[in-house]
Amino acid sequence: SRQFTRPLNDLANQYNMILSAVAGAERAFQIIDETEEKQDEEQATAVDEMQGDIEFRSVGFSYKEEEKTLSNISFHASPGDTVALVGPTGAGKTTIISLLSRFYETDLGSILVDGRDIKSITRNSLRDQMAVVLQDSTMFNTTIRENLRYGRLDATDVEVEEVAKAAHAHEFIVNLPNGYNTVLDSDGKGVSHGQHQLLSIARAMLADPALLILDEATSSIDTVTEMKISDALAKLMEGRTTFVIAHRLNTIRSADLILVLQRGEIIEIGKHHDLVERGGFYSALVEAQQTGNHASV
Ligand code: ADP
Repeated sequence: SRQFTRPLNDLANQYNMILSAVAGAERAFQIIDETEEKQDEEQATAVDEMQGDIEFRSVGFSYKEEEKTLSNISFHASPGDTVALVGPTGAGKTTIISLLSRFYETDLGSILVDGRDIKSITRNSLRDQMAVVLQDSTMFNTTIRENLRYGRLDATDVEVEEVAKAAHAHEFIVNLPNGYNTVLDSDGKGVSHGQHQLLSIARAMLADPALLILDEATSSIDTVTEMKISDALAKLMEGRTTFVIAHRLNTIRSADLILVLQRGEIIEIGKHHDLVERGGFYSALVEAQQTGNHASV
């Protein structure tokens, strides 16, 4: 999972932390500087109120000329849909997210956002409407309050606490000796792995994006925290188009659209029941997980 966590982390860093004078900003700017930023097309305009309608039309992409990374990727997600990306490491899941975030450009086909060609939209306005929640989202060496506020820099303390409550983070935060003023170190240490996830969910709630990218955790977390995370994620996903790099059958089963990827191609597409009935790759994955051969998809 490391392999796709790192590029996604770069995306997350870009979305979640920018333009603040508080501690951590230095590192943030360093990350941005390291990312080669392309110029927007001359005709590009901002998207102000994204609805979250996403369509890929026969998208093809290669990192290297001699090697096709994605071929003929087509699907449509309506506003509010959850799209689960399933498939082995290297199948192209992260690359789909990278194209949607415009860290790379399609070689073939097109991506439409609310019916507009993605190339006609300024990159910053696109990314302003996206948030990324990872199994190990970046936290900065500052207080919990400021870490949450990276979601939206002008949020009031009351708004910060509201999202923390909704994400089931408030209770553990106020039980820390310094509460919301607890300083995290840059690895987010000082809180447990599960608590770290609740904080990143709260931060994304504050950002209130139309488009959400989730990289589902593979590591095991205690059952109680796991239930809090599930519930917080369900609230976060409500009303937003969500792309989830999914490992858990429960998440995948409830998706509006499942894309099963292999070697850069969609080999199966549909809802859980359709794909199970098909009796193909997906149904074999499900069966393997249910008989306990694999801990996760
Ligand atoms: P997944 O997220 O499904 O694990 P990726 O989208 O990360 O798959 O990778 C798809 C393919 O593209 C893999 O063969 C991977 O090695 C390759 N790849 C990913 N990122 C890069 C990159 N920045 N440069 C060159 N090749 C890459």
